[in-house]
Formats: sequence, structure tokens, C-alpha cells
Amino acid sequence: VLFGVFLLIAVLTSLMWRDTFDPESIRGTRVLITGASSGIGEQMAYHYAKFGAEIVITARRLEALKKVTQKCEKLGAKKIMYVTGDMSDPADPERVLKYTIEKLGGLDFLVLNHVGNTNVGLWNRDADHVRSLMQVNFVSYVQMAGAALPVLETSGGSIIVVSSLAGKIASPFVTPYSSTKFAMNGFFGALQKELAIQKSNVSVSIQILGLIDTESAMRKIRGYTTMTAYPASEAALSIIKAGATRQKVAFYPWFHYLTCLINDIFPFLTDLLSGLRWD
Ligand code: NDP
Repeated sequence: VLFGVFLLIAVLTSLMWRDTFDPESIRGTRVLITGASSGIGEQMAYHYAKFGAEIVITARRLEALKKVTQKCEKLGAKKIMYVTGDMSDPADPERVLKYTIEKLGGLDFLVLNHVGNTNVGLWNRDADHVRSLMQVNFVSYVQMAGAALPVLETSGGSIIVVSSLAGKIASPFVTPYSSTKFAMNGFFGALQKELAIQKSNVSVSIQILGLIDTESAMRKIRGYTTMTAYPASEAALSIIKAGATRQKVAFYPWFHYLTCLINDIFPFLTDLLSGLRWD
């Protein structure tokens, strides 16, 4: 019976998330991508470039941003610019957003993707680290979204936030990170509803990612999990599609929708599903 129920859910899920994405819908749109000097953000920049978008990328490392910019030019970006910014500095989220709007003359997609550095391991009782990670991973997202909302209202644009399975299922060894992603899901989930109440033009898409094979993730999780890592380029495309088709919540890989359902129904199975190791 259980197998039948999950099979039914799987069929309904694939129908629910059938691919309606039209790459042409991205051509000429104005996009700001945070955390685009490496990893998934870098891959998103390349996809948006191929689709002919006008792009601003941001992160802290200038040289890395320059390299991504050059590649985006070759891939066919209509416009590509970079601006450095440190999201641990409370002034930078709004400064970066202001720069983008000045350069692009508006905004269609605000893609919030950056993530601060944190160690994988048992929590070391450092509350200051949690506080500073909250600024980078959560408060800066809120600041940018708040500053962008009036502009996105004009363009009928979208906010895309890159979240994690660790923001849906409390995850040991990444306790500070997990808490920032729970905060993000809570805030942007509630914001979706408030925008609907106000009949806003702006959509909010929350992308839940499983383990993705970025260099930083692979380096950190070694020895902690047996979970399969999925390609960053595919994850990036999934995020772009979720935003373009105005999906409220999207999962990559898709079956993590089921992981979350199973976690809600049978929480005792979570450790098994997560592939965590603590032997
Ligand atoms: P990376 O570590 O590869 O990239 C992180 C990006 O954030 C870099 O461009 C980095 O650039 C930037 N960044 C880090 N700190 C700051 C800061 N203080 N200010 C501004 N920018 C900063 O991460 P991933 O690509 O792996 O992850 C991208 C997103 O996907 C994150 O939100 C992450 O939580 C989410 N995710 C990733 C998973 C994975 O397995 N990889 C799983 C689930 C979710 P720079 O150093 O130049 O500032």
C-alpha cells in the first residue's frame, strides 16, 4: 500500500512539475545573481548568458568575477557586468542592488544565491558565528528583497531564493547553516503569501537543493554523507526554470519533494534518507 501511495505521489509530482520553460522568455530580461563567482551561481550566469539576458553578477572576489564575466560575454549575454560586494557588511546588499538598477535600468530577476563560509562538524557553541552567518545567508537576502520589491513590482519580476534540503529537514553537522536556511524558507514562504494578499505582480520562487557537486560542497562534506551529489549546471538550470515559470517551491533533484514528505510523515526515517554517517 505504501509503495502504491508513493508511486501515485511520484506520478502526480512529475505532472505537477512538467517542464513549461521557454528559454526565449529569458532573452533581454535583467538579472542580478549573487554568489556568482563560483559554484551554482557561476553556472546560473552561464545559462542566463546563453539565453541572452542582461546580467549583473556579484560576490567578493574580483578576479573570479572578471573570469565569469568574460565567459558570459562569449556565451552571448546581451549585457554582463560585475560588482564586488561583501554580504557580511550590512551596507552592501542595498549598494549592490542600487548599482544593478542604475546599470540595467530596472530588474526582472533577483537571484539570491550567495552563502557564507561555515565548517561542517558538531556545533562548537559559537553563537557569534551563527549571528554573522545569519547576516550573510539570511539578513542580506531580506535586505536585497526589500530594496528590490518596488522595482520588481514595476517589471512584474521575480525573486528567486536558493535554499537547501537542510532548510526543510534539521540537519546535524551543519547546524548554523541549517538554521539560516530554515529562516530563509520561513521568511520567503510567508512573503509569498503576503504578496498574494496584496495582489502583487512579484513572484517568489524558493528552490530546495539536495547535494550539488560544487567544489566547496564536495570539499566540506567528505566523510559526512553518502548522498549522491548532482551536477551544478543542472541545479542552476532548475533554479532558472523555477523563477521563469514562477513556481512557488521547486526541488532539485525533484525526488527531494518526496524526501520532505516522508520526513514530515515518518520523521524517524530521516537519518536513513539523509545518508548521514556518524560512525
Ligand atoms: P559556493 O561556495 O560554490 O559559492 C558561494 C558563492 O557565494 C561564491 O560566489 C562566493 O563568492 C559567494 N559568497 C560567499 N561569501 C560571501 C559574502 N560574504 N558576500 C558575498 N558573496 C559571498 O556555493 P554553492 O554554489 O555550493 O552554493 C550556492 C547556493 O546553493 C547556496 O545558497 C547554498 O546554500 C545552496 N545549496 C548548495 C548545495 C550544495 O551541495 N552545493 C546544497 C544545497 C543548497 P566570493 O567568495 O567571491 O565572495
